[in-house]
Amino acid sequence: MYNTVVGLEIHVQLATDTKLFCGCSTAFTTEENKNICPVCTGHLGALPVLNEKALDYALKAALALNCRINKLSMFDRKNYFYPDLPKGYQISQFYHPYAENGFIDISNKRVRITRIHIEEDAGKLIHNEAKMESYVDYNRSSIPLIEIVTEPDISSPEEAQEFLEKIKTILKYTGISDVSMELGSLRCDANVSVKRENDEKLGTRVEIKNLNSFKAVAKAIEYEASRQISVISEGGEIFCETRLWDESSMTTKCMRLKENAEDYRYFPDPDLPKVLVGEERITRAKNDLPEFPEERSARFVSQYGLPEYNARVLVSEKSLADYFEEVVKYSGNPKSSSNWVITDILRVAKGEYYVVDASHLGKMIKMIDDDIISGKIAKEVFEIMLEDKRDPLQIVEEKGLIQITNESEIERIVEAIISKNPESIAQYRSGITKVLGFLVGQVMKETKGRANPALVNRIIISKMES
Ligand code: ADP
Ligand code: MG
Ligand code: ZN
Repeated sequence: MYNTVVGLEIHVQLATDTKLFCGCSTAFTTEENKNICPVCTGHLGALPVLNEKALDYALKAALALNCRINKLSMFDRKNYFYPDLPKGYQISQFYHPYAENGFIDISNKRVRITRIHIEEDAGKLIHNEAKMESYVDYNRSSIPLIEIVTEPDISSPEEAQEFLEKIKTILKYTGISDVSMELGSLRCDANVSVKRENDEKLGTRVEIKNLNSFKAVAKAIEYEASRQISVISEGGEIFCETRLWDESSMTTKCMRLKENAEDYRYFPDPDLPKVLVGEERITRAKNDLPEFPEERSARFVSQYGLPEYNARVLVSEKSLADYFEEVVKYSGNPKSSSNWVITDILRVAKGEYYVVDASHLGKMIKMIDDDIISGKIAKEVFEIMLEDKRDPLQIVEEKGLIQITNESEIERIVEAIISKNPESIAQYRSGITKVLGFLVGQVMKETKGRANPALVNRIIISKMES
């Protein structure tokens, strides 16, 4: 039996307005080399100035991931040559990272976080194969990133996926990044090795790059572990190498062996001062952290009496949980609000939950509870609210959707229906109770769903039995 051992290296783009060491915008643009200056394109003599906002964002991330903040950290130069790296080195933190010793708990274990450091992104190469030309776009050059490195505590593709989802949710809650793999603001490399179950020592690891979804991470780990197991069981040897995940063949392929690469000759960047983070700054960042999903979902269960499942769905994203709580303010009915948000809002919303104003949804739910509209009509009102952004009361009044709760009016309609279906009384009395449902349905049809269902039921039964 073999064990799979995985450690992840995760890059997260910080959502600052400007780059890490200059004032250039970080906004996405399709125009190449729009957001650049002498600093982020590495002109000789241009001096970097650290973005304080990036420092605060990284601080929040580190605290959210339970790390210890190093009050003294430093920037180092990671030297290598590549056309997308105009300075010939990347500014990163090697000897003294910003934060260390964190952790995240997933369902079956604690995954330790070795370190979190701040670094700058590189530019981007664009290849035109037809013309045999390559171009370089420096818009991304020097955009602030944090790198989160885990201990090799992950033992399966499922654990890796759960861990990544959790990291993503937590960081999204803090608001320091939009953490989207599709947009490139979240990137992940996976280090994978296998070892015989009883071996103490870890096996040789392989680093896998080019993973562009959580699914791909899981698939790549699964493939790579089984590849390594078959190499070893056939008497072969695993080399320390970097492999690329190939989505089309669902396999990993060798990119380079580690032995002949990667001497980065790190040394402290003489252009940047040491980073000192004081207690005050840490306290400020702590106070600025949101209530995280686990605590929030526990509160939803205790404060609102929601089922565990509903609470968990609602806290899956901060903006969704915020939306729900705003709806409750207006509805006064958390249970019903959670059902509306989970079934109706989630059905139509795509990441943006305010498709219906929270106050409008809340007021509509209250109108159901106040017997002003029926649940069925409410579905109609909801559809209308999706279209025009008006207050539900206005919609209900204008469209004449207010529930009929006037007994004599309902009685009149029931009598008319019974006289059109005289056989129903005999049927009912002979014990065919489903005729009741039929009659209720007829009344609803007649009133376009506006009759109060409880009243309709009661009145029909009393007619049948009298
Ligand atoms: P590098 O900079 O060369 O990628 P690091 O020391 O930063 O090296 O380690 C990178 C990652 O590799 C970490 O996430 C660590 O947990 C993981 N790792 C180290 N050894 C192993 C191993 N034997 N099997 C799987 N992952 C490992
Ligand atoms: Mg690495
Ligand atoms: Zn710049």
